[in-house]
Amino acid sequence: MTEAHHVVVVGAGFGGLETVHRLAGAPVRITVVDRRNHHLFQPLLYQAATASLAPSEIAWPIRHLLRRRRDVTTLLASVEAIDKEARELHLDDGSALHYDTLVLATGARHAYFGNDAWEPFAPGLKTLEDATTIRGRVLLAFEEAEREADERKRAALLTFVIVGAGPTGVELAGTIAELARSTLPADFRRIDTREARIVLIEAGPRVLPAFAEDLSAYAKDSLERLGVEVALGEAVSDCSAEGVVFGAERLAAATIIWAAGVQSSPAALWLDAPADKAGRLKVEPDLTVPGHPEIFAIGDAAIVLRPDGRPVPGIAPAAKQEGAYVADVIRARLEAAPAPPPFRYKHQGDLATIGKRRAVIDFGWIKLRGAIAWWLWGCAHIYFLIGVRNRLSVALNWLWIYARDQRGARLITWQGEEAEEDDSPFSRP
Ligand SMILES: Cc1cc2nc3c(=O)[nH]c(=O)nc-3n(C[C@H](O)[C@H](O)[C@H](O)COP(=O)(O)OP(=O)(O)OC[C@H]3O[C@@H](n4cnc5c(N)ncnc54)[C@H](O)[C@@H]3O)c2cc1C
Repeated sequence: MTEAHHVVVVGAGFGGLETVHRLAGAPVRITVVDRRNHHLFQPLLYQAATASLAPSEIAWPIRHLLRRRRDVTTLLASVEAIDKEARELHLDDGSALHYDTLVLATGARHAYFGNDAWEPFAPGLKTLEDATTIRGRVLLAFEEAEREADERKRAALLTFVIVGAGPTGVELAGTIAELARSTLPADFRRIDTREARIVLIEAGPRVLPAFAEDLSAYAKDSLERLGVEVALGEAVSDCSAEGVVFGAERLAAATIIWAAGVQSSPAALWLDAPADKAGRLKVEPDLTVPGHPEIFAIGDAAIVLRPDGRPVPGIAPAAKQEGAYVADVIRARLEAAPAPPPFRYKHQGDLATIGKRRAVIDFGWIKLRGAIAWWLWGCAHIYFLIGVRNRLSVALNWLWIYARDQRGARLITWQGEEAEEDDSPFSRP
């Protein structure tokens, strides 16, 4: 008996998992390869980074998610190279994995615009380890400030800089401001945590540049009401252990968080295929890699253009739509059915929160702001979480924060960068 067509999906993020779900019942066997053992709900990562949610509330073991799919094998492994001619992936343990069809859904990471030396001083937010690193740094800064006698050093410890005012930067800034103003004051004796400076630096002219201008203005005003200083039109030109330099200003800060710029995974290098500046693979209208109809690239790993030439945004719904589309193409090929028409992205809207009571939602046809947007944002995110237990626990946590300003996940579980992995129940050292 001949073996079923082998589809290998690299990356069990939003895009890869959607492909696997949509291929249920197709005449294929599927192997999912991911270098982590968990699927991560990145839209709520900032809450793990700011002690609002525990890492285990926003990540789920991939193997468990796919346990009912007898047609799917899950491998915890990192892809290091691809042999296009032999149709083989080379994994980190030295083994090779043959594919008939390959779906690359390897995502992206934050980028420092060529200044990688800034990373140790200004960690970005992409993984659970990043979130626990940031959480540790933020909480430790308050602890050290409580012990610090020197006024200047204390001020630097109580200065938190966030670089980049997209949704992640805005959400981080708003939540850290609430942490300092509402959650922590009663717990400290020598410092007044309300004096902490939270500075959001953005090179562009407004916060949330993907949103309509009035929503950007509302978000800026809401941040300022929370006590966030917003510096617009200033690019950061240096990050160090002392702080940041932006425009003509040098700001002493112990905690810097990087929320600007993304760089795609090295999938384009593995294939030696054309990519844009951010390393995203250029794909055909059916999301295949040029010259290789058996290889698809989706989500943050690919640059997909809309009919008007604008790129499809790097967000979860786009990755999921692309994942579903690719599954349909694969199924049509195997069933010798007509190929689906070229991929068309449907934008469902942009959402961002500013602290625990305000949000902005831009659906295009309708714009929402304030408390009603916050409740809608909350319901949407709870809906998209996986599993009833997680939904209940996240909803309860949010209600608790809403009513009492208390954030439960305020543990510092490491005493140095080298111990960070320990805090992540699912990560691989
Ligand atoms: C902090 C943050 C907040 C965000 N907020 C939002 C939001 O509010 N709304 C929204 O829609 N989008 C948001 N996004 C964007 C959204 O998360 C991404 O667009 C989406 O995750 C892209 O899905 P993907 O499947 O392409 O990649 P990912 O979900 O990133 O998944 C990629 C997977 O590939 C695996 N992988 C990578 N390299 C390898 C390798 N070499 N070998 C094996 N496996 C590998 C990774 O471990 C990972 O599991 C946010 C992103 C971040 C970082």
